Amino acid sequence: MSHGPATYAVPGPSMVPQRVLRAMQHSAVNIYEGPLIEMTASVQKRLAQLANCAHAPFIYLGNGHAGWEAAIANIAREDATLLVLCTGRFAQGWAEMAEKLGITVEIIDFGTSAAVDPAQLETRLRRDNGKIAAVMLVQTDTASSVHNDIPAVRAAMDAAEHDALLMVDCIASFGCEKFDMQGWGIDVMVAASQKGLMTPPGITMNFVSDKALAARRALPRVSHYWDWLNRLDPEIFYMNFCGTAPTHQLLGLDEALTMIFEEGMEAVWARHRWIASAVWAAVSAWKPQLVCNVRDTSARSSAVTTLLLEGQGRTAELRHWAETIGGVTLGVAIPMPHPLAASHEMFRIGHMGHVNPSMMLGTLGTIEAALCALKIPHGSGALDAAARVFAAGPQPIG
Ligand SMILES: *Cc1c(COP(=O)(O)O)cnc(C)c1O
Repeated sequence: MSHGPATYAVPGPSMVPQRVLRAMQHSAVNIYEGPLIEMTASVQKRLAQLANCAHAPFIYLGNGHAGWEAAIANIAREDATLLVLCTGRFAQGWAEMAEKLGITVEIIDFGTSAAVDPAQLETRLRRDNGKIAAVMLVQTDTASSVHNDIPAVRAAMDAAEHDALLMVDCIASFGCEKFDMQGWGIDVMVAASQKGLMTPPGITMNFVSDKALAARRALPRVSHYWDWLNRLDPEIFYMNFCGTAPTHQLLGLDEALTMIFEEGMEAVWARHRWIASAVWAAVSAWKPQLVCNVRDTSARSSAVTTLLLEGQGRTAELRHWAETIGGVTLGVAIPMPHPLAASHEMFRIGHMGHVNPSMMLGTLGTIEAALCALKIPHGSGALDAAARVFAAGPQPIG
């Protein structure tokens, strides 16, 4: 597509706003003195505010996988057991990483279309004999688009009177969905720059509680680059990053956070829910050939929607038409076991970060046009349904 702006409705990396790109436009940045030093402290402070975390986050150069490894490395003894709650593909990835680090992992699999059932977690924790060191899950699973109710998970752990750490991967949801580290009693949260934070891939964060820091202190040694303690209260600026600061990512993130706080955190979360609701309304009109993977609306992510299309061999054509003729890139399916895999194919619409109604109406309209052009049967009225959701305006997030 060489004319008109290209839209990326992909669940990460997400669209980078022009303001963020402009903020990054520097040939070089002084890492020894000058504005970067203060700006980094301000970025950390605002990230902590967005997460409602008591401490400044540890920022690593790396992608989300790096953030996963940092989190595991700082809390898990080799003889620990981690209980991983799986709702798609991403918590499994985190679990696989822990296993490769030699740590025992136990999985409770909730399938690929439903959220964690807190009652099942409570039952498991009640019969634990002190082996489980941490409970790990994602807030939004980017493959299935399942959203987990994190306070309900905390409540189940409290009901079982279990003192495991609670670790949440918010890589897809941070900056899109409400998160309240202190209010919800979270010990470790992992985020990254390239999704709701609207900044190119390259940095990842660990937000930690006092209890998580105590777990780190109980370990004899942690791989030097990952070690939280090396980065706690650094005497010299470079120690924040165990080396050169990610200068341009920080410049970008500084501007992205300015945008988020200009709009207001609550307004950002409400906008994401609003845009997601418009997508769901459109998909409901496309049924029965197209459906949302997650039936229960309370278990749906505000950042990404996974769709199931009846038949085989059509989603590649659909995405190709949308990208080359319509100018919008849609998300590919991430392979995961699914009960409808024999009869349906998946694709994803990303609606995270720098998105507004016109972009989403354009995306939905392009999908509608592609369905017509490719003679893929579908229900009618999708754009009308989406427009009505937009007309009703965003609803406050409780
Ligand atoms: C994108 C994503 C990851 C992985 O991040 P990378 O930067 O690709 O390593 C992990 N978890 C979730 C929920 C994600 O959306």
